[in-house]
Amino acid sequence: MRIDTIMKRRNTLSFEVFPPKPEMDADLSGITNTLSALRVASPDFVSVTYGAGGNNRPRALDIANIVVSLGMSPLSHLTAVGYTKDETDRVLGSLGELGVENILALRGDIPVGMDRDDERHWRDFQCARDLSRHVMGHGRFCIGGAAYPEGHQESASPEADIEFMKDKVDAGTTFFITQLFFDNDRFKKFADRANASGVGAPIIAGIMPVFKARQIRRIVEISGCSVPEKLNALLDRYLDDDASMKEAGIDYAAEQISDLWDEGFGVHVYTMNKSKGVLEILRRCGFLDKDNLDKDKNDGGATK
Ligand code: FAD
Repeated sequence: MRIDTIMKRRNTLSFEVFPPKPEMDADLSGITNTLSALRVASPDFVSVTYGAGGNNRPRALDIANIVVSLGMSPLSHLTAVGYTKDETDRVLGSLGELGVENILALRGDIPVGMDRDDERHWRDFQCARDLSRHVMGHGRFCIGGAAYPEGHQESASPEADIEFMKDKVDAGTTFFITQLFFDNDRFKKFADRANASGVGAPIIAGIMPVFKARQIRRIVEISGCSVPEKLNALLDRYLDDDASMKEAGIDYAAEQISDLWDEGFGVHVYTMNKSKGVLEILRRCGFLDKDNLDKDKNDGGATK
């Protein structure tokens, strides 16, 4: 189903998965099992990442196909970096044939070694806005975009970031999913600023559960997102104790999600292709209660 259609009625709960490396999951049976397990939460959609300039495109398409075959709606990521207009059109054609209705239009992370000035990689789409406009031209997809509660690394100021969001909306983007964050207050202030500036599209909160302290320390270093004191203390305490970190991380994510959901935001969980911990988080939030699974019956109003 189109995400913009769902969002007119209520907030969305969704997951992100990524194509596993062939040497880890050659026949995609691992990711198929993960997706089958996650289905119990009745997600509104499942997003499938796509490496800018990488070689995982066929696997991303295969995973979108698995999502469809399991009766869930895929949101396929597409990147501007590394793909020409013709290549993008071919992929959009294949996705349309699979029944994919939702596209996350991204600039893409620039792969190591790729030169920002290399004309080959930037010929057709310079940024997510350009790709969004092109996908809109196909006339058959609901389009989402990326948003950054704590600012994109390349952006000159928080105000510039919001202006880019408005450009994307003008180019057909109808909702945003944020980069991961651990500080709900910062996210809410960002959403307020975006709304006040007239972005006018719902912003879905991207939540990454903390299962391993060292992994999160690395991700924080790359993304530059802030870590509240409470989480920082947990990361220090459980740096070498994965079992305790996972238990505390499940609690932390459940608190984050419950707070955001209660305030009227949709939630997108970065699953890192793990189902067990993610489902435990949702159980603690009450999302797996029978009454809550039929979300259309519990229509609480449109997403913020
Ligand atoms: P843009 O919106 O194009 O913004 C990037 C920068 O481009 C801006 O800071 C600005 O400097 C410039 N810019 C933007 N608009 C304009 C404009 N109108 N005029 C001039 N300059 C402009 N990466 C992947 O490779 N694959 C994925 O599957 C993937 N999934 C993601 C999912 C989510 C939810 C998020 C938040 C990010 C994801 N990323 C993914 C990472 C993303 O590609 C990078 O953060 C990338 O650096 C920026 O992408 P963007 O779509 O936000 O780009």
